[in-house]
Amino acid sequence: MSNPKCEVLLSATQIAQRVKEMGEEISRDYAGKKLLLICVLKGAIIFASDLMRSLTIPVEIDFIAVSSYGADTSSSGVVRILKDLDQSIQGKDVLIVEDIVDTGLTLNYLRDTLLRRQPRSIRVATLLDKPSRRKVDFDPDYRGFVIPDHFVVGYGLDWNQRYRNLADICFIPDDNFR
Ligand code: 5GP
Repeated sequence: MSNPKCEVLLSATQIAQRVKEMGEEISRDYAGKKLLLICVLKGAIIFASDLMRSLTIPVEIDFIAVSSYGADTSSSGVVRILKDLDQSIQGKDVLIVEDIVDTGLTLNYLRDTLLRRQPRSIRVATLLDKPSRRKVDFDPDYRGFVIPDHFVVGYGLDWNQRYRNLADICFIPDDNFR
């Protein structure tokens, strides 16, 4: 696969170290409990699989896929569920695992939607956070890195479905492939 002309923002080594720390923090917070990870497809798959292996508590995983309704979504914040969870989350401790929080609209909607299914608790872990782009007040419970307003790829994040397999997280300096 050809590498995009990109600069490394976060190296595989930096990511691995931070994900390990996040796993330790989450394991401490949920000590004595069983946790259900909800991996938001597709971007969070690599983060979720690494995070899951860094947890020392009993853990299960399920998957959800969401898509925006198109151009309107950026203002409405309504997202469509393309693939729903396989199981009920009622009474469970749930951690939504996402790749990046940008405007906050997707996770805000997803968290509210899942809250209506009456989990015992619900929190959000994101690997990346771009707070400067927020359109709604959304604060993830666990965040790996705060990054500047660049479009990034790698470690699960794509551009037109490509570059998810890069080990590092990269950005194109002038954003010319957005
Ligand atoms: P939000 O609803 O917070 O604006 O957007 C969340 C989604 O937008 C993410 O799950 C991701 O799919 C996409 N997204 C936002 N910023 C980036 C980025 O820098 N790179 C990539 N590949 N996707 C992004």
